[in-house]
Amino acid sequence: MEDWQKQNTEALTSAEQLQYRPELEGNGVEKVISTYPMRISPHLVAQIQRADDPLGRQFIPHLDELSPSSATRDDPLDEERLSPVPNLVQRYRKRVLLLTTSSCFAYCRFCTRKRRIGHHQHRVTWGELGCALDYIGADSSINEVIISGGDPLTMSDRLLQEVLERLRSIPHVKILRLGSRAPVVMPARITLQLCKLLQRFEPLYFLTHINHPAELSVETLAACRMLVEAGITLVNQTVLLRGVNDDAVILQELFERMLQARIRPYYLHQMDLTSGTEHFRTRLEDGIELMGGLRRELSGLAIPHYVVDLPGGHGKIPLVPEYVEALGPCARLRAADGTVVDYPNV
Ligand SMILES: *Cc1c(COP(=O)(O)O)cnc(C)c1O
Ligand code: SF4
Repeated sequence: MEDWQKQNTEALTSAEQLQYRPELEGNGVEKVISTYPMRISPHLVAQIQRADDPLGRQFIPHLDELSPSSATRDDPLDEERLSPVPNLVQRYRKRVLLLTTSSCFAYCRFCTRKRRIGHHQHRVTWGELGCALDYIGADSSINEVIISGGDPLTMSDRLLQEVLERLRSIPHVKILRLGSRAPVVMPARITLQLCKLLQRFEPLYFLTHINHPAELSVETLAACRMLVEAGITLVNQTVLLRGVNDDAVILQELFERMLQARIRPYYLHQMDLTSGTEHFRTRLEDGIELMGGLRRELSGLAIPHYVVDLPGGHGKIPLVPEYVEALGPCARLRAADGTVVDYPNV
């Protein structure tokens, strides 16, 4: 058994186990996890100081998850409806999302796929995965596959290699994207052997998920460095979370430090309208204002797109501050500092 596999068996999954670290005890954990399971990896257990710190809030269950709201759904993006075969979401013609597993090394309390994650009945079988791969092979308009889950790196190297080989044997699939939180929650998963394996399937973009500077531990940075040094491009998605990172200073530090670590910020996600995650929601106005601040302060390379994934499966759109006051022959544009500038538009 590899070190990460052993660590994975040592994750905290019960309220009882949390009791050994009283400072980590959340509110009503036992009640919450009968609906939404808990999983906290050993690396996180070592990093979290308190239930209400930026990491604690992301991973320790909270009674607020059980407050129902009429605005949220189990499947707000209509992923089930957009699945031509199980575990494959085709919202856009040319790129598809392949859900390889329903498990993760740690369960984020704000997860969009909360309905599936850690639930046995959503386990992905090899037969289903085969069907999804056959579907991709049969639809020649698909040129990009986003390997997601759950966390695809919970698969063994052998299984992952099998999936990647099957995808690479499809001539119309040009680009692979692999989304994983392993560098943050299970850095031991990023082994030299894994880097070598991923390297063989280029162009493969590794999509990390980092929300707060506290997630950039020494181990996480080392794992990212190994990937980069194997020639794998790292891009990141961040979820905008109330009480975790909805703050200009925190976001600036996060994106600057990521850029230094050679991770290019790609998306800042508005929280999806997922049941059980209401307490993490921010208003659209807040996100737009934060983006305006980033534009003034940060290198353009450090600025992600702020996107909202529209309910009903209509896809993601970027939200930007109002830079355009008027178009036409005498356009008026608003500078990042607020000044309105005339722009001859001929
Ligand atoms: C986000 C997403 C994609 C990828 O969108 P990009 O804008 O290319 O990053 C593809 N399919 C689904 C279902 C998605 O949710
Ligand atoms: S790692 Fe991703 S899929 Fe897994 S719980 Fe977190 S957000 Fe959800």
